[in-house]
Amino acid sequence: MYERILVPTDGSETAELAVEHAIDLAEQYGADVHTLYVVDTDSMSLSLGAEQVDRIEQGHYDEMDEVRDRADRATSYVADRAAERGLEVVEYVSAGKPHSQIATYVEDNGIDLVVMGSHGRSGVKRALLGSVTERTLRSTHVPVLVVEADESD
Ligand code: ATP
Ligand code: MN
Repeated sequence: MYERILVPTDGSETAELAVEHAIDLAEQYGADVHTLYVVDTDSMSLSLGAEQVDRIEQGHYDEMDEVRDRADRATSYVADRAAERGLEVVEYVSAGKPHSQIATYVEDNGIDLVVMGSHGRSGVKRALLGSVTERTLRSTHVPVLVVEADESD
């Protein structure tokens, strides 16, 4: 049923909860695990200058230590958990609008299931779903498993 499962991660605790579900399903189905961190250029445009945002959108986020470290930490968490269980894992980082990047990654890589958190780093619980999750549900045609944030947060 599932061959390539994508875990989009922003490094949040809720995304880390989603990883457990993704890994268990990958084991059941013999699927590979893909993980994607999107450098959210819209949210950075407040703290960075237009020039830096352009560089990031062109894929040069490696130049910015803080940005690169956050991306690396987020994807390696997923990769390490999956590798511990002997699963094949693909790590990827891109830049732009998270939901568009997720939808494009799904299309380009033959992803057949997305597993993600209900909320993320901003963790605003007044919304039923975080905006990235809600928009991903609207922009992709593959099933999306949404793992709920821990109530106690
Ligand atoms: P909002 O961003 O709308 O203020 P939030 O941060 O609580 O609210 P989302 O950003 O929608 O909620 O996060 C929900 C899930 O979406 C996360 O658990 C993660 O799986 C995924 N996600 C969020 N941001 C990114 C990102 N930049 N790259 C990859 N996946 C992401
Ligand atoms: Mn968010």
